[in-house]
Amino acid sequence: MKTNLNAMAEEPLLARIRRWIEIETPSRNGSAIASLAELIERDARNAGLVTTLQDLGPEIGPLLTVSHRRQGDRRDGILVLAHLDTVHPLGTLERNPFRIEGDRVYGPGSYDMKAGACVALEALKQVMIQSSNALPIDMVFVPDEEVGSAASRPAIERIAASARYALVCEPARHAGRCVTARKGIGGLRLSAHGCAAHAGLNHDRGRNAIRELAHQVLQLEAMTDYARGVTVNVGTIEGGTGTNVVPEFSRLAGEFRMPTQALAVEIQSQLLALQPRTPDVTLEVEAWIKRPPYEKTVATALLLAQAQRYATGAGFELDDVPMTGGASDGNFTAALGIPTLDGLGVLGDGAHAIDEHFYLSSLTPRLAFWTLLLNGLT
Ligand SMILES: [Zn+2]
Repeated sequence: MKTNLNAMAEEPLLARIRRWIEIETPSRNGSAIASLAELIERDARNAGLVTTLQDLGPEIGPLLTVSHRRQGDRRDGILVLAHLDTVHPLGTLERNPFRIEGDRVYGPGSYDMKAGACVALEALKQVMIQSSNALPIDMVFVPDEEVGSAASRPAIERIAASARYALVCEPARHAGRCVTARKGIGGLRLSAHGCAAHAGLNHDRGRNAIRELAHQVLQLEAMTDYARGVTVNVGTIEGGTGTNVVPEFSRLAGEFRMPTQALAVEIQSQLLALQPRTPDVTLEVEAWIKRPPYEKTVATALLLAQAQRYATGAGFELDDVPMTGGASDGNFTAALGIPTLDGLGVLGDGAHAIDEHFYLSSLTPRLAFWTLLLNGLT
């Protein structure tokens, strides 16, 4: 009997998640993302929430804000971060259609993070109805998280200025664990300019730009230091125009990840100090921080302790995982000093993969948890 009741309670939520999944939303497909944003916006507005769609251009799509803040309530509140975009190109839905197989609910973006975001919004609607003394809650649906959130970052940071806590709907980790620390990500571009020459007639006059970057690649890769949690990855490289030409130009792009702000500064300055190894070849280096590190602070641990009580109330245990290498929008709020809890979405597997799915059995407990959490945080 209990199972049947749970199944009934899940039905409207599951139907809504299905609609979200069946609107495919690849990053940088602004019109597809707008379709989903408008659907959610109508749903939230019908529930009495205040909504705003901010246009971030035709490629990115809109950023949707859903707020339960009552007029005149100037308390610092709760910022809930979700994203609308997925890594999956249009047509993935045909290869991984919405379907339920046992406890698994399949679909592109199901686990990362449409189901988790839908659960959090549902909880927010319930808090709205219950007219409790909850802190003001602002939920943001970001259109470009999977491509770094560059367009959304100013809006996230503006709304975060009036947040006491940040909660992120990214997928729960193995066994439902949450995330309290993430590495930061830096971007990296090197270009080398040498001198072109005929590879047969005037080889000695040439200055080989690819040779220069070959030296640099080894140096960059050697900066990886697993013991300190630092990785440097050269991801793409190009250069040269033909086998009979000493290449004048070559460039590479990569990224670096680090667990602390101190290491972010250290690695960035090491990169900017790189010098050319080949005579008469110039080297240009760009190194910048895309997402600052999200470090677990005492305040984060206290927020986790509060959340653990609500998880117990919802019938499960909530632990955190050790620092993870993947970043999220939680990196922005954590770097502003806002206690941030991430990975609070549903359980599942196959994020970014063709068999992406979430566990149906996690919907009801997670909805109960989010409702308690949003109502109860002080
Ligand atoms: Zn995600």
